[in-house]
Amino acid sequence: MQSSLAESRRAEDVCNAVRDYAAWYFNDQKEALDLLREWKLRSSEDVGCVQAALADAGLIEVDAEQSAADFAGLFTLENLFPARTPVREAAKSSPGGRILTQDLPCIKCKYNLRGLPLDINCPECGETVRRTWTAASNGLHPGFGRVAAEIAQNWYAQIADAAGITTDGIHFISAAMKFMRRDRRSGRDYGDGIGQHMTAADVCTAVREYANVYFNSPNEARAALEQWKVRSSEDVGKIVFAMVDAGFFKACPDDSIDAFSGLFTFDDLIGDVLEQAEPA
Ligand SMILES: [Zn+2]
Repeated sequence: MQSSLAESRRAEDVCNAVRDYAAWYFNDQKEALDLLREWKLRSSEDVGCVQAALADAGLIEVDAEQSAADFAGLFTLENLFPARTPVREAAKSSPGGRILTQDLPCIKCKYNLRGLPLDINCPECGETVRRTWTAASNGLHPGFGRVAAEIAQNWYAQIADAAGITTDGIHFISAAMKFMRRDRRSGRDYGDGIGQHMTAADVCTAVREYANVYFNSPNEARAALEQWKVRSSEDVGKIVFAMVDAGFFKACPDDSIDAFSGLFTFDDLIGDVLEQAEPA
């Protein structure tokens, strides 16, 4: 499992950022194609070359596990800008898709995308709604980070209502998953660009370690986690799979909610939280 909101410099994320930024930066497709050809940014492979050169020069840091091959085949100039899809037809193919619940202008043409699902294209310019959403939630749509956070909060509340969990519980589990370093994951690499996945046991380890960092005392932890309905490994599984069902986390064929059974109890979890010494 992998939090799709996690901050990362994976090749796929870098290429998505390049595409988002290009959609925002250029006025039209012709200008984009002319300039990107001139700048020798014609494909995801070119982006990988630039990133490698910057890393070699010590100007940026990249994950040790990343290689030029990760950039292969992610985009070409021809598919940098998706073809326009009629909005009504696209909406039919995405029943139950997440809807933008607040005013959010298209990153390319400024059309207000409020009320549209993520899985369709902007009715004005054909750019994907998801691209605007991704840019806004990653701080690449200047001025709309807060709107993106509010929209995500609306979605979390809907998921929590439907699944009998709490939004605080979702935030706590998401933060715990981001807290675990990538090199500590023990799941398989499915070749999907994520690298090794987190197993149920990894997620539970992350939650226990994060609880110790997050709370100052066992009493504080007990009160908060009780309220947030994060009391056992089964509760963690319930939250993770509610997020998987809602499309926020990706699950692999090996992942199942049963894998969360019996990994820790509430007493185990609280027992991990150390009393923090008062500053002297
Ligand atoms: Zn648009």
